[in-house]
Amino acid sequence: MANRTLTPEELAKANELLDLIRERLETLSDGDRALLFAYRRKISKELTYDERSKPMERKRLKKLKLEEQGGLCPICSMKLPESYNVLDRLQAVDGYTPENTRLICNECDKKVQRERRYA
Ligand SMILES: [Zn+2]
Repeated sequence: MANRTLTPEELAKANELLDLIRERLETLSDGDRALLFAYRRKISKELTYDERSKPMERKRLKKLKLEEQGGLCPICSMKLPESYNVLDRLQAVDGYTPENTRLICNECDKKVQRERRYA
């Protein structure tokens, strides 16, 4: 299933919210460029965690999936390397849960991403 996208009306609302957030950040930082940078980075990081979970949670999930899968990539059946493996969400909207993810090798991830772009 492809990820949900925004309708033109929803996109307009998202852009309004973004403008509002930018205004608030400008007010909060009061002309201090370094502070604006720090606030912007903090907000950006937290929103990314809302979408992708925190790094420690993903790391824990990767370890669990590696054990569950017997150390193998479920697509090519090759032994997964120690690092650079990818947690692939079956449905992006359902997040990084054990039920919604599989740990795949980097090469298979590239193929999966390519296929999804053309789907
Ligand atoms: Zn693979």
